Amino acid sequence: MDLSFGDEYESFRAELRRFLEGWPLTGEEAKRSPAEQEQIFRKRGIEHGYVYRDIPSEYGGSGRPHDPIADQIILEEYARTGAPGNKLDQGPGMLAPTLLEFGGEALKKRFIPSTLSGEIQWCQGYSEPGSGSDLASIQTSAVLDGDHWVINGQKIWTSNAVHADFMFGLFRTEPDASKHAGISYLIVDMKASGIDVRPLKQMTGSMEFNEVFFDDVRTPAENIIGKRGEGWAVSRATLKHERNLIGSPRLMGEQFELLVARARSTQRDGRPAIEDPGVRDRIAEIEGYVRAAETTNLRMLSATVHGEELKAMLPMMMIKLYSTDVMQMIAKATYDLVGGGGLLEPAEERDGIYATSGTVSSAVHNYMFSLGPAIAGGASNIQRNIIGERGLGLPRDPRPSS
Ligand SMILES: Cc1cc2nc3c(=O)[nH]c(=O)nc-3n(C[C@H](O)[C@H](O)[C@H](O)COP(=O)(O)OP(=O)(O)OC[C@H]3O[C@@H](n4cnc5c(N)ncnc54)[C@H](O)[C@@H]3O)c2cc1C
Repeated sequence: MDLSFGDEYESFRAELRRFLEGWPLTGEEAKRSPAEQEQIFRKRGIEHGYVYRDIPSEYGGSGRPHDPIADQIILEEYARTGAPGNKLDQGPGMLAPTLLEFGGEALKKRFIPSTLSGEIQWCQGYSEPGSGSDLASIQTSAVLDGDHWVINGQKIWTSNAVHADFMFGLFRTEPDASKHAGISYLIVDMKASGIDVRPLKQMTGSMEFNEVFFDDVRTPAENIIGKRGEGWAVSRATLKHERNLIGSPRLMGEQFELLVARARSTQRDGRPAIEDPGVRDRIAEIEGYVRAAETTNLRMLSATVHGEELKAMLPMMMIKLYSTDVMQMIAKATYDLVGGGGLLEPAEERDGIYATSGTVSSAVHNYMFSLGPAIAGGASNIQRNIIGERGLGLPRDPRPSS
């Protein structure tokens, strides 16, 4: 079966590959700070029309016509080279498309360009102690006082809050309304007075998560996305983008390749572990799941290209659940390859998508962290409910009164 995208798109891929040979930067540019180098290359990608294609140029994107196949090729090639410009960050991947859909003109102009260029970093303030899966029960309040909202309460599990310049999040602005109707979607400056960010140490040794406390924090009244009391609908848009990021089959493919590389480089009884029939069996089984996800991805792409979005809906709902399950299998298999010896391996700075500087080796870190994506952006049980109720039309799960 020929799974290539045809001559026209393969020459587009070749042209893109030539462009990506420019990363990493060389010469004088390579002497700039890592953040500046990323900004330079991201800007170059926008100018060439490879990065942020679906975002109009007036907001800092490259404003190209919708082309799902070109998007897919760009995703694959940027991932292969690790060049900066993908959408895996919360700002470009989640906040920018939400602002485009629901934001007023002033907010779009102010925040989208600097988010895409990487000047502004974001964090997502949704979860609270006691409000995770039941997100609509959040209690952190925002009360309008003149031309500012005054915020009090606490968020938790806020990834990247330590480094973020701004938070986009959900706040209760109508305490008397029913729980879904009482929420607004606000932007908050993380340097504002009254914000206290406390990192949470994980079993990996890393500290990606934080608690964020608000004590009379003020944010301008106009920093609202969507209408007052209608933040729930806005949050659904952001979550859709988040789940697509977490569930990307491409991440699964990357992790699988790391597993195979590990099996080649790890010795077992004086031979590469990949020559062990047990290891080969396990890798072959996992590869079946990985290839099935890739094929499903191609089916979704084909449905989108042919304007049959409805056909793509059920697989789209399933892909986050499926891919986070398979990524756990991959991480467990990698960990089993290195075994207890993995605990003695030196800590590594980077290896795969779950990388952060920690106190354990990448195999151990990835295994421990692989449990997380199945929870982030909506836990697996919640995904199963969504698939059952919205995808398959099964009766709704009983819910507490709202
Ligand atoms: C890696 C990672 C990054 C994260 N980053 C952020 C972030 O940046 N910002 C942010 O706001 N939050 C973030 N979170 C938090 C995440 O959104 C919540 O952990 C998630 O929504 C689950 O909420 P909870 O932890 O309160 O678990 P709970 O809601 O208490 O769920 C506990 C268990 O009960 C099950 N359960 C709950 N309700 C139901 C139901 N109705 N039916 C069946 N089973 C149910 C769940 O599936 C789960 O297994 C992150 C989490 C992780 C793991």
